[in-house]
Amino acid sequence: MAAKVISFHYTLTDPSGKKLDSSEGDEPLSFLQGVGQIIPGLEAALAKLNVGEKKKIQVAAKDAYGLRDSKHEIEVPLEQLPKKDIKIGDMFQAGQDGHSPPLTVIKLTGTHATLDANHPLAGIDLTFDVEITEIRDATPEESDHGHAHGAGGHHH
Ligand SMILES: [Zn+2]
Repeated sequence: MAAKVISFHYTLTDPSGKKLDSSEGDEPLSFLQGVGQIIPGLEAALAKLNVGEKKKIQVAAKDAYGLRDSKHEIEVPLEQLPKKDIKIGDMFQAGQDGHSPPLTVIKLTGTHATLDANHPLAGIDLTFDVEITEIRDATPEESDHGHAHGAGGHHH
């Protein structure tokens, strides 16, 4: 059976109802099933829906971006940071390839900064209000690449 490409609109809110992200006014998000393109808790819930269906999907932090882990907080000397005048909340890209998670400054002393490599949404229970806009078979090319192509998907 060919994998499916599912397209959907979504609004993402945190437990206080604050809107974190939304596809409103944009193309729906498209993803290839079964390859981990989106968080597992959301993918499993979307797989049960049909085109046109709307649903409120709640995904616990552990099934979303994971729980916060203090092991992912690291203390580095200020002179190793790429700029001066560091403030709490500043973000840095680790590594050279641009794919590493951003590091956020969460603590400062006179000599050191504590950087947090947890995903910004780690530890947060998420609510997605979704509407399925399309379900179709993945093309051989998409299955080969491991992601969806076209509007809302991957562009080359
Ligand atoms: Zn591709």
